[in-house]
Amino acid sequence: MSLPPEKRRRTEDASTKRSNIWYKDGSVVLQAQNTQFRVHWSLLSQNSSFFRDLEDLPQPPEQPTVDGCPVVELPDDEFDVEFVLKALYTPSFLYQTALPLAVIAAHIRLGRKYDFRELLDLAVARLTFEHPTTLQEYDALPKPYIPTRIVPHDSVRFDIVTLARENGILSVLPLAYYRVLRTTHSADGLFQHLERDDGTQASLAPVDLRRCVSGREKILDVQLKPGYPCGWYRSRVPGPNCTGLEHCVELREKCLRTYLDAVTTLKGLMKFRLTSNTELCAACAQDIPKSNAAGRRRMWDELPGFFDLPPWGELKNEL
Ligand SMILES: [Zn+2]
Repeated sequence: MSLPPEKRRRTEDASTKRSNIWYKDGSVVLQAQNTQFRVHWSLLSQNSSFFRDLEDLPQPPEQPTVDGCPVVELPDDEFDVEFVLKALYTPSFLYQTALPLAVIAAHIRLGRKYDFRELLDLAVARLTFEHPTTLQEYDALPKPYIPTRIVPHDSVRFDIVTLARENGILSVLPLAYYRVLRTTHSADGLFQHLERDDGTQASLAPVDLRRCVSGREKILDVQLKPGYPCGWYRSRVPGPNCTGLEHCVELREKCLRTYLDAVTTLKGLMKFRLTSNTELCAACAQDIPKSNAAGRRRMWDELPGFFDLPPWGELKNEL
């Protein structure tokens, strides 16, 4: 249907551009920033209660149209809208093992806002897979850690923290903060600005900075204490069943010396591994991993508290 030229000008001025997502038989035009997408009401309604309700509202007679389709202006980022529409029209887009965080973020933001429930759940599942709430699941992730459900980029750890906090995905935060601490290596590193591929910069917001600085201090403070993962470094005398006293004392002293040389190194959940070069008596070869494992369980249980978050059981995602 052709429109009077004045009406076309109202909705398609010089700065407006058409996206590649432009179906000739589409029934509604979504506009985000300066980009228009011609899509189908039925598909939007099927996936979002917001658009289902909007479709049912009577359309005002003066509503702008393009090619006979009503124009719905969205106050959202054009790339966010594009990533949502891409997933709706090309389901194989979602089958990829890893997706860029920008896509996951778009599905979470618009999923929550417009109730694209399935997209939201799938996107959150990618984040929660990478940030489990149990030590067992954490240990099952590859080490050294590389995300498998999210395409990694240089500032991905900062960006995950921001995304999870802004969208109330609280269960992700303890491990997300912990990974920031493990990879920034120093308190200074928390304040850096990291450049993304598109030239924008990633940095931590004040609330995240405060939690990370405080968490770093608390973990450094406890990690060598008895009952925590590296607590066994400090027990100068091995247990009563130790039969290889000299070697066993030596290993503890060596670990403690190395630790003191880099006392600001965050060990956190570090796992003790017996190597073929580790000379220990049979009793210590059992006791040390046991003490380390108990310390790791305690460190994990207390992880949310180090970042001033409620315990794991109370960290509900606000979806
Ligand atoms: Zn021993």
